[in-house]
Amino acid sequence: MVRGETQQDPLNAFITLAEIPPRAPGRLSGITVAVKDNISTRGVETTCGSRILSGYVPPYDAHVVDLIRNEGALIPGKTNMDEFGMGSSTENSGFGPARNPRDPERVTGGSSGGSAAAVASGMARMALGTDTGGSIRCPAAFCGIVGLKPTYGRISRYGLVAYANSLEQIGPMALSVADCSLLMEVISRFDARDATMQDRPYLPRLDGDIRGMRIGVPAEFFGEGVDPAVADRVRKAISVLEGLGAAIVECAMPSMEYALAAYYVTCTSEASSNLARFDGVRYGPASDYKKPWHEAFQEVRMQHFGPEVRRRILIGTFALSAGYYGKYYGKAQVAREHVREDYSRLFQEVDLLAGPTMPTVAWKIGEKSDPLSMYLADILTVPANLAGVPAASVPCGTVQGLPVGLQLTGRAFEDELVMNAAYAYEQGVKA
Ligand code: GLN
Repeated sequence: MVRGETQQDPLNAFITLAEIPPRAPGRLSGITVAVKDNISTRGVETTCGSRILSGYVPPYDAHVVDLIRNEGALIPGKTNMDEFGMGSSTENSGFGPARNPRDPERVTGGSSGGSAAAVASGMARMALGTDTGGSIRCPAAFCGIVGLKPTYGRISRYGLVAYANSLEQIGPMALSVADCSLLMEVISRFDARDATMQDRPYLPRLDGDIRGMRIGVPAEFFGEGVDPAVADRVRKAISVLEGLGAAIVECAMPSMEYALAAYYVTCTSEASSNLARFDGVRYGPASDYKKPWHEAFQEVRMQHFGPEVRRRILIGTFALSAGYYGKYYGKAQVAREHVREDYSRLFQEVDLLAGPTMPTVAWKIGEKSDPLSMYLADILTVPANLAGVPAASVPCGTVQGLPVGLQLTGRAFEDELVMNAAYAYEQGVKA
C-alpha cells in the first residue's frame, strides 16, 4: 500500500494503489477504472479521504464495483478526495492534496480530484467519482476531462459512504464522451438495495445529431464571480453547438440567487446525521471505553475528523436544532423547490441548458484559505444536485493553458441527450 506523492503516483491521485482484478470478461475488458475512495471495495481499504476511516476494510463491494468487475474492468486503486466529499479542490483530503496534471502547483478540483487526475494523467482510462454538489464536474473541468453527474436515482448508491444522500450520485469520468458514456451504461443497472433507484438503465445514443435541439443559456450562469475569460471560452463553445444546428435561447434562472445557500444548509444538515456513525465504536480508531461515552466520542471525532468536516457537522447540527430548523433547514427546502420549479419551467421551452461548469480555472494549491470562497466556487454546479437533474462537463479549450469545462444540463432521465450534445460538441471541435 502506497500513500502520498511517490514515484508511482507523483500527483497523489490515489490513496491506495491496489490491483483489484476483474471477475469476468466483458465490455470493460482491458480497461482500467479507478474508483473514488468513498465507494466500498471488498477487502481493500476505503477511507473516504478521512483519517477516521484509515484501516477500514469493507466486507462487500458497492453495486457499481460489482458491475464494473463483472464487465472486465481492472481497478488500479482508490482515488484521493476531499474528506467525505467535502470540498472543491481535494485539498481537504486527510492524505494530502492531489495535484493537477496540467500544472502540479494547482488543484485538481474536487472532491473527486484523484479520479480526475488519474484519468487526465493516463494512470487509469476511466474513473468513478461521486457528485453531491459538483464533485465530478468540477475536477473534470479543472483537469480537462469529461464527467457526468447522472440523474438522481439512476445509479445505485449501495456501498457508497453517504455524505448528503438526497443530493449525491455516483458517476463516470473519462477522457472522451464515448468512454464516459460506456462506463455510464455499465453502472446504470438496477439494484433493489438502493430504495431511491429507478429501473431506467442508460441507453447511449451518441450520433452527434443536435439539429433542432433547443439550448437555453441562463444569464445567471454568466453572473458575478465568473471569470470573463472563462465566460468568453464557454460562449464560443455554445456558438459551436449553434453551428451544429442547435437553437440557442437566452433565458433566466432567478432561483440561482438562493441555490448555493440552500445547498450548503441541506448538505451540512444531512452530513451531521450521516457522519454520526463515526464514533470510534464500529468504525475508525477505537474510543477510550473507560471514559464517559460522550467524552470518548468527542475525543475520537476531534482527533480524526479534519477541520472542514468538523465545521460542517457543527453547521448542520445547528441548522437542524429545535428552534432553528424552520429558519434554516425548512427555508432551504423551500429554496430547493424554487430551483426545481425553475428547471421544470425552463425545460418546457428548451431541451438543455448550457454554461460554464466552474466560474474560474483551477487555482493554486493553498490559494483559497477561507471556506466561503471555496463554497462560492460551487455556484454553477449545485443547482443540478438540488433538482436531481443530469449534468455533464465537457472540455472546451483553455484559458492561460488551463482547462475550461462546458456544462450541459438536461431533464431528469435524459442523461442520453446530455451526453449526445457533449459528443456533438467534442466531435464538432475535432472536425
Ligand atoms: N464542493 C461541494 C461540497 O463541498 C460539492 C462536493 C461534492 O459534490 N461531493 O459540498
